[in-house]
Amino acid sequence: MFRFIRIALSDFTDLLFPTLCLGCTRSLTANEKILCTRCRINLPETGQHRRADEDHILNKFAGKVPIEFVASYLHFSKGGIVQKLIHRIKYKGQKEAAREMALWYGELLKREGSQLPELDLLISVPMSKARMQQRGFNQAEWIAAGLSEALAVPMQADVLMRKRFRSSQTRKNRIERWENVKNEFAVRQGVGLQGLRVALIDDVLTTGATLEACAVALLQAGCASVSVLTLAATR
Ligand SMILES: [Zn+2]
Repeated sequence: MFRFIRIALSDFTDLLFPTLCLGCTRSLTANEKILCTRCRINLPETGQHRRADEDHILNKFAGKVPIEFVASYLHFSKGGIVQKLIHRIKYKGQKEAAREMALWYGELLKREGSQLPELDLLISVPMSKARMQQRGFNQAEWIAAGLSEALAVPMQADVLMRKRFRSSQTRKNRIERWENVKNEFAVRQGVGLQGLRVALIDDVLTTGATLEACAVALLQAGCASVSVLTLAATR
């Protein structure tokens, strides 16, 4: 019985603070969290917060919706460490990893992100009710929590809601996808956003259609500006 409790407890603490590197499964030392120092140093950082060059992701939104500032922490590539980390977060319940990595990103932005505009509120992209029930948590909220702590900007998770269940995107072209997603989000009644400079927070920026739809809803609700910060972005 005693042994059982001990094992159960160590499983529990492993869930909260994994003792193996999520990148290479090497044992972590006492002052390492989530990743070993080597994996952390080798993270494929985008550096997007420092520059506005030609391949800047702001272009993903150009001509669609006025976005003040966009930056993603890491490059997402198939088979790479970032895909592995996002997978761990989403499907293995590693929400602490999401918060911890967002903390690292927030600290980096605070140090080097002179281009980051003043922000009043961080808003996480909501998940559908069905997915929330299935997963039990929304990774975007945990990312927002880490950024909020590092940047000392408040976060709010229940600002946006998904209005309806999205039908499958896979067989749709770009315009059909946008038609499918554009009316999907709404600002919850009673939430006051007038004049606020907000940042939308999500895990991975891909086409930007979801973030774009969220931004439209936020601007319609009176936000002064909308920025986007994500943990990762596809190229
Ligand atoms: Zn490692």
